[in-house]
Amino acid sequence: MLNTTYAKVLLGTFVLLISAFGVAYADHAWGKYHWDLSTVDTLANPLELGDNLSSSWQESLVGASSDWNNSVLKNQVAAGTSNANCDPTLGQVEVCNGAYGDNGWLGIAQIWVYRGKDGHIAQAIVKLNDTYFSLPAYDTSAWKDLVVCQEVGHTFGLGHQDENFTNANLGTCMDYTNDPDGSLYGQLNNEHPNQHDYDMLSSIYGHLNGTGDGTPGSGKGSGKGKPANVGTVTLNTPAEWGLAVAQDAQGRDSLYVRHLGSGVDVITHVLWAE
Ligand SMILES: [Zn+2]
Ligand SMILES: [Zn+2]
Repeated sequence: MLNTTYAKVLLGTFVLLISAFGVAYADHAWGKYHWDLSTVDTLANPLELGDNLSSSWQESLVGASSDWNNSVLKNQVAAGTSNANCDPTLGQVEVCNGAYGDNGWLGIAQIWVYRGKDGHIAQAIVKLNDTYFSLPAYDTSAWKDLVVCQEVGHTFGLGHQDENFTNANLGTCMDYTNDPDGSLYGQLNNEHPNQHDYDMLSSIYGHLNGTGDGTPGSGKGSGKGKPANVGTVTLNTPAEWGLAVAQDAQGRDSLYVRHLGSGVDVITHVLWAE
């Protein structure tokens, strides 16, 4: 009798632990999406962040690149090869700014992923909307740093740590805020990633960094691969982003999935202006 009760309590605790872990993981990673790149791969050939930015954005991208290089996935800023539409380039990230219009969003990150169990990312883009960043409320290094850091984090496969704009800053750019550098309310600075973000990336990319996997010269391939054409489409509005699959704390849709042809999904993460 006592043993049964004890077993039930133990079992209950175990289930609770599993579900707590599941929720925490689901909250922060975009499911299982990741580049098929080990740390060894990216030490030799860093994941390129194509710089299509005008001068006022340069410092934020260089800063975000440097911050994210504290993680297992190494990146480098490279000359951008995109265009006014910010079309993606296979095997890398393109980062763009432009006056994309009064559509409500400060920034979006989009990743094209191969459908299937691996969840590998083919290409990604970041768009920063100068229609809002030209306004005094957002034209600050703190806002720019936060948004660039967050959108680049999304292109690596990370979600948000928190989606409430008005609670206390967690000290990471993967946290929504109305006080990016913490100076308004005397709180933590949200312009940079924190250790939890780096830990998440270690967990996501762990299978590529295992001892039996990704050793240099193992004939595993170049790392960046040459997958089939995954297509380009113009994707600036919710109508083009597909199905809304997640909402922020204000109840606004924040994550969308659209099925494209040829076994590819495009996933859009949007940060709305307040
Ligand atoms: Zn993988
Ligand atoms: Zn975001």
